Amino acid sequence: MITKAKESEENMYDCVIVGAGPAGLTAAIYLRRNGLEVLVVEKNAPGGQMINTPRIENYPGFPYIDGASLALSMYQQVKDLQTPFLFSEVIDIRKEEDFTVYTKNQEIKTKTVVVACGMKHRTLGLLEEEKYIHKGLSWCSLCDGALYKGKDVAVLGGGNTALEDSLYLSKIVNKVYLIHRRDSFRAEHYLVEQVKKEKNIELCLREEVQSLQGEDHLEQITLKSGRVLQVNALFEAIGFEPNTNFLAHLGVLNASGFVIVDDEGKSEVDGLYAAGDVISKKVRQISTAVGDGAVVATHLAKRIQSCHLQEM
Ligand code: NAP
Repeated sequence: MITKAKESEENMYDCVIVGAGPAGLTAAIYLRRNGLEVLVVEKNAPGGQMINTPRIENYPGFPYIDGASLALSMYQQVKDLQTPFLFSEVIDIRKEEDFTVYTKNQEIKTKTVVVACGMKHRTLGLLEEEKYIHKGLSWCSLCDGALYKGKDVAVLGGGNTALEDSLYLSKIVNKVYLIHRRDSFRAEHYLVEQVKKEKNIELCLREEVQSLQGEDHLEQITLKSGRVLQVNALFEAIGFEPNTNFLAHLGVLNASGFVIVDDEGKSEVDGLYAAGDVISKKVRQISTAVGDGAVVATHLAKRIQSCHLQEM
């Protein structure tokens, strides 16, 4: 549903922002504060990956905060600027003189676009993964952790997400097996040290998942070493990949599907910008996504305002 969005095609937006994670929400704040007509399109809940993060400890100003609260606070700040939201999935973007953004049910006209749609979680690619979704297999410890109170679970991965998930779950479940394919972690040192201190987290290093078993619900995981873990849940935290198929025809993606932009967030297509985890870059954090959103919107606001002046 669009809240207070323009209904006439003649009423074109200055900018449509695709994605309401930290990059998109920050861009919306900067553009609205510059008086520009903005629509934010989001296919899920506002906040992006933040809403699945149990505890954030490295976002300045908040020694610790849960991701859902930070997401809600950012969303409210954008809403307070009378910014319309459309909760729908963007399936295509076409450019003629201006842009048309297509969702399943609507065509939205806009002068510029900011792609800030983040990434989707990676899966192992095992045939049986489908069978155990909502039956023991999860990508969200915050959403599903409480279902396994007092039970044994496994977390897969060696990045910040896997270690944060393990710490969060260790407070709820009986035991966490943290399965990682190497013997060193790419997660922050501070998190690794915390995990090592938890008595109910067992590190299963240089191990990979071979297969999942269980009648109607996950009951055990067989590792490639042959070890079998009796667990009620597996939380996969093996990274993310960009969700950018709808942009493929525009020629703005690198070989891995990330949007290539310059240091102002501009892509090769005039008027198409991108920010946050979806762009080709090395550091993906809430703070860097916020920074990307601010940079893009600052340049974009100047560009749109100079167009408005020329039209006068
Ligand atoms: P990530 O950093 O990409 O880590 C993914 C982990 O999964 C890696 O340890 C990787 O192993 C492992 N992995 C990948 N494919 C695998 C497979 N097929 N089988 C087994 N293991 C596999 O992902 P993330 O932890 O979700 O983090 C994503 C980004 O968000 C990062 O930039 C991270 O810093 C950021 N983040 C930040 C915070 C925070 O600052 N509080 C919290 C969460 C996420 P290898 O190490 O061997 O490659």
